[in-house]
Amino acid sequence: MSKYFGTNGIRGLFHELSPQLALKAAQAFGIWTNERSKFRVQGSETQSSGRKTAKVLVARDARLTGECLSAAVRSGLASVGCEVIDLGVCSAPGAEFMLRKEGAEGLIIVTASHNPPEWNALKFVDWEGVTVSKERGEGIEALMGKIGLAKWDEVKPARRIENAVAEHIKAIEGSVDLEKIRKAKLSIALDFGNGTGSLYSEMFRRVAKISAINENMDGHFPGRDSEPTEQNIQELASLVKKGGFDAGFAWDGDADRFVMLDEKGDFVIGDKVFALSVLHRLRGRNGGKIATTVSTSRAAEDVAKMHGAETIYTKVGAPYLSEAMAKEGADIAGEEVGGVIWKEISLAKDGPATAMKMLELIAEKPLGEWVSGLPQYFNAKTKIAVSREKKKEIIEKFASSQKGKGVVAIDGVRVNFPDSWVIVRASGTEDYIRVFAEAKTKEKAEKLVKEYEERVKKL
Ligand code: MG
Repeated sequence: MSKYFGTNGIRGLFHELSPQLALKAAQAFGIWTNERSKFRVQGSETQSSGRKTAKVLVARDARLTGECLSAAVRSGLASVGCEVIDLGVCSAPGAEFMLRKEGAEGLIIVTASHNPPEWNALKFVDWEGVTVSKERGEGIEALMGKIGLAKWDEVKPARRIENAVAEHIKAIEGSVDLEKIRKAKLSIALDFGNGTGSLYSEMFRRVAKISAINENMDGHFPGRDSEPTEQNIQELASLVKKGGFDAGFAWDGDADRFVMLDEKGDFVIGDKVFALSVLHRLRGRNGGKIATTVSTSRAAEDVAKMHGAETIYTKVGAPYLSEAMAKEGADIAGEEVGGVIWKEISLAKDGPATAMKMLELIAEKPLGEWVSGLPQYFNAKTKIAVSREKKKEIIEKFASSQKGKGVVAIDGVRVNFPDSWVIVRASGTEDYIRVFAEAKTKEKAEKLVKEYEERVKKL
């Protein structure tokens, strides 16, 4: 069991994720990266560069504790002989793009993503651009007790790269039809939530008429909570509802998540952002592969099927999508909270890239029409209180009662039916088992939830 690593790196309040812990974790990651050939993703074929000591990038979002933790991370990496490149304040997708561009062997991003401002986290990315999962993180954690310092003359000063976001923007712009977007003369309302998404405002201004709110980066997140939920982007919704906009766009604190409002100001949930992204990717093609988590709407799979593409389901969490891209060669991957991976840019969720791809769609017809053209599903959910000790046991019992076609038991148990599905999954942080269903009618979804709630309660 890992003491520090969660689903996506090490996360905590300042007294938990302290500079002392950041230093130790960075040293362990440095050693892990220096010896990378031992720690590849299983099945991966990418070779290491042959460099003895790794080149590792460090980036941070605009949180108040960011520079303090980043300094500890840079020091930790340098102390075990890594070549350190500091990207300064940068979006998560911008940093992940630079990993590929610089041919670096590792990246540590100091960001707590969409969490409240008092939180921070270290997110680790390997030499293939694959985010380090909890399972692989345990390997890094095991090295924390075995840190050997480099010799004094192997410790190198960090180099600074100032233009990471500019380079990322160039790559995004190169992957879309800018002229097509410009010609549509779109008017878009943007809510950056005081996060690093605001570093991209110029990119949007070059192709559309923009009204932006919460544009100044501020580690207190004074404008709104950082998570772009429907409830948290009400100010943007009021702006769009006044009229005159083709869409509203919003990101989380490190700009990897992205959600939208249509021209009427109606919320376009992350599931639908992903389904539209799949449509964007597979249009005009026949065949391919998409990857998504077991808790994502069936709409994406339906869109993939219409284009003859297969859907691979992964555990819940961005690192598993990143792994699926590297190992399975998926054409696109995404999750229900509005994170989409565009492989021509990086193997990480990329909010600014997703936004530009959506502008290409909106340049053709109104967003509301795109959304209503998607397969429609209704959902229902409930949670069952159980003790911490019983959670795992109940899920295991349930899994063994659900063998057969349509059952995906990689993270909880998802049972697929022809036009509906249900998932029974233990909450990662709370003492609940959650039951979530999706079907073509609200009644059918509710009925499924009730039926499976009863089945779980009987175990
Ligand atoms: Mg995020």
